[in-house]
Amino acid sequence: MKNGSKMRMAFVIATVTAISIFLTAMNRRRIRNRNRNKKSPSSSCYLHSEPKPQSAFKRVLADNSYTPFKHFKNSNDSSNNDKASNSHPFEAEITALLKNSRPEIELSTEIADMEMNEAYVWVNTELQLKELVNVLSKERFFAVDTEQHSLRSFLGFTALVQISTQKKDYLVDTIALHDFMSILCPVFADPSICKVFHGADNDVVWLQRDFHIYVVNLFDTSKACEVLSKPQKSLAYLLETYCSVTTNKLLQREDWRQRPLSAEMVQYARTDAHYLLYIATCLIAELKQLDNQNSCDDDKFHFVHEASRRSNSICLQLFTKEVEAPGDSAASSLLSRHVSGQGVASVSNETQTIVKQLCGWRDLMARIHDESLKYVLSDQAIVALSSQPLSSESEIYNLIAQADNNVEMGVNSFIHSPSPVVCSHLSDIHHILSDKLVNHDHIYSWIIQKCLGPNGTCPLTIFNYALLFNSNLKPSLAYKPSGLKNHRQISRKASRDLFVQKFSCKAPVYHNCRIFANDGRLLCYCDRKKLEWYLSRDLAKLVDEDPPAIMLLFEPKGRPEDEDNDFYIQSKRNICVGCGEGSHYLRYRIIPSCYRMHFPEHLKSHRSHDIVLLCVDCHEIAHAAAEKYKRKIAAEFGIPLYVQRVVHPEQESNVQIDEGVSPLQLRTAAMALIRHGPRMPHNRREELTEIVKRYYGGREISEEDLERALIVGMSPHERRRFEKKRGISFRHVGKITAGSEEETHADSTTRISNGDVSKVDSLDDGSYANEETSNNVDREHFMVKDDSGNPSLASDLAVHASVSPTASNGNTSSFEIVDYSESSDSTTNIDGTNLSRKKPNGDLSYPPKDEESTQTKHNSKQSLLGHGPHGQEVVEHLMKEYGEEGIGQFCQRWRQVFVEAVNPRFLPAGWDVKHRL
Ligand code: AMP
Ligand code: MN
Ligand code: ZN
Repeated sequence: MKNGSKMRMAFVIATVTAISIFLTAMNRRRIRNRNRNKKSPSSSCYLHSEPKPQSAFKRVLADNSYTPFKHFKNSNDSSNNDKASNSHPFEAEITALLKNSRPEIELSTEIADMEMNEAYVWVNTELQLKELVNVLSKERFFAVDTEQHSLRSFLGFTALVQISTQKKDYLVDTIALHDFMSILCPVFADPSICKVFHGADNDVVWLQRDFHIYVVNLFDTSKACEVLSKPQKSLAYLLETYCSVTTNKLLQREDWRQRPLSAEMVQYARTDAHYLLYIATCLIAELKQLDNQNSCDDDKFHFVHEASRRSNSICLQLFTKEVEAPGDSAASSLLSRHVSGQGVASVSNETQTIVKQLCGWRDLMARIHDESLKYVLSDQAIVALSSQPLSSESEIYNLIAQADNNVEMGVNSFIHSPSPVVCSHLSDIHHILSDKLVNHDHIYSWIIQKCLGPNGTCPLTIFNYALLFNSNLKPSLAYKPSGLKNHRQISRKASRDLFVQKFSCKAPVYHNCRIFANDGRLLCYCDRKKLEWYLSRDLAKLVDEDPPAIMLLFEPKGRPEDEDNDFYIQSKRNICVGCGEGSHYLRYRIIPSCYRMHFPEHLKSHRSHDIVLLCVDCHEIAHAAAEKYKRKIAAEFGIPLYVQRVVHPEQESNVQIDEGVSPLQLRTAAMALIRHGPRMPHNRREELTEIVKRYYGGREISEEDLERALIVGMSPHERRRFEKKRGISFRHVGKITAGSEEETHADSTTRISNGDVSKVDSLDDGSYANEETSNNVDREHFMVKDDSGNPSLASDLAVHASVSPTASNGNTSSFEIVDYSESSDSTTNIDGTNLSRKKPNGDLSYPPKDEESTQTKHNSKQSLLGHGPHGQEVVEHLMKEYGEEGIGQFCQRWRQVFVEAVNPRFLPAGWDVKHRL
């Protein structure tokens, strides 16, 4: 393996270690909390008192979330670079073997020497494993088999790997060595060493799933049987035929997690690998014989080659994860297997719905608790539960027990029914069964929050944490809020809680990973993603693991400490910089984005200094102060906060700089007048008419003016949506306004930066951490305004988003969401440091998703509702009058505003109002 791959692997280990330490800490805290409040008896999950062997794993490649499995990336394979990221890392090597390979397995021993003696090596330390690798790397071939555990695990895991050379049998304890197994990768991937398996189909993908071990150069004795047209191709048959050994295949269903293994299990496990080399030798001899017999034929069948080819094509298989939650088809297939008589068609819709819901519940519970589906709840129990009305938890309990009647699972393992999962979550089943209208999507988030959310009932583990934290990874069960009602009633307290819940950062923002320059000097702290970014591009090497640190392999442009500023080398705490609150925090941008987005590219770096964490209360204070200060800036610079009204040339003399009419105000007024004008109290009508008139420069307004006002300030995207809603009657109006203002403003607002990686002065902290996980949302981006234009907490973002663009639901007092398009931070890659969203091929000018190809420079998401145009004018003014110095002073003013409003007591050392860009 090249250094790059090693490092990457080391990095994966380090990352996972860090995550698991974090999770352990969280769990401890949660258990402590639970013991403290001990409210409901149902809040104890069986897992708290029953640790499972896999909970000690620190490096888990396939977790139970809906994320696709990531295969190992082979940096040796240059052709692999542009290929789909999840191609087989050793495709080239294996393909070469498919074309031309002759397994050379020549045993120096007689059959008598093949007999199994007492001695075998139990490998359960890292050192022993390294010694084994040493031995194996000198062999030309060795035999392999694996044993799995699948009942008490969602995806199953390898519990034992048996490896036999001519001389020795090794039993590798893959539970104890789970995190170290990748040491074996090179020998398994070495094309010059032949690996002999029997029926390798499963083993090959299991080894990928658990250890990123890829088998290259395989000889599968069952494939040889096929080619030789043997009457049977089971291992038991081969053992009997060639070795006169009998084996009890029932033992394969033992619980292979147990330690120590019983003598019988050790015997079984060794037998599965021990004789394979001898059997392979015999089979190859037979294959060769056939080749020789047919040697005179022109188009002869190459038996040896064919057996080898079929074997190696198994190696090309790739492990994949089930990333779809069970849907309708899963439910009907389950029913078809368990409903007797007339078939699924005879089953009522209601029953089918319940089956579907129970399947979904079972799937999620299995993922959360890392158990197999059948361990959680059997198919027959689901069918039984769906077929009769049940009113109490004890009825449910009894029915499941009855349906299963203690099914036997293995030689001596019974699944207790109902399972501990059912027992500790019986009330959920009751809930599902009693509320048949609950939809899938709702159940999903409800269960996740109940089990893994704050004060959740179940332990957060390395297997399930992504279910909670990757909220974008719920393919068919995505959470959709179900109604518009109520948001007026949400009390301030509840609204605050919601805000915290939705918008606070879900994971620590600062991971305090370190980046060193190539001379060993500390450059800055950053998050894990950033480390990964550099590592994956071979721009850095990993120099420390816990917490991870990298060293850049190129010369960075600037050194923060050269400029006598230690801010970037301070490790930062995940607390509110205002009051020190640690339970939740949101990112807050000290320089409002409406200005910052228009800064010259090179002044946008070092963003971390001006993004701080604040609790929701300090956030509100800071935000209010910033809004107030924006108005002050507007007055001071004579640049209104909102788009200027349309001024007809002949009225130019009347132009006066005031705040203008906000498009939102204008649109709301126009809509109200159109809908309710005639029925309105006279005063109110006058008031609203005044607003619209102001926009049109004071002249009298017509019906058409009102209609036209409805789309003022909308982005093309918003307007399209709006037109769709209102029908085509607005097309002509659109044409009139489109040219007059939008183009002039929006044109220059989309700045796609060149995220040149050599610009390391853009190193900053948390700059693109978790953009996807909605941690980066702040009030500036999603502000809910009511009719009066007063901002209020975005109490339910998704709900509001769906009623945009304006009060078209007949309710004049409805809310609307205002996207102060500064969120272009994440949509248009405004920030040079937002490297993670760059197109992989470095093409930075790709248009935003829903943009039409003709409007290349136009960001359709850019809305004029925000202060974007104001910000742009202010920044242009500053640049023109004072240059970059002006921008620097402008930033200092904002830091001053922030400090005066919040009075922050927990700013990181080195934070400075006078910080220089
Ligand atoms: P083997 O190599 O034949 O011992 O099988 C390897 C692993 O496959 C075992 O450890 C089991 O986990 C699994 N397995 C194979 N066949 C069965 C079966 N019929 N029932 C349950 N598990 C099986
Ligand atoms: Mn086996
Ligand atoms: Zn639980």
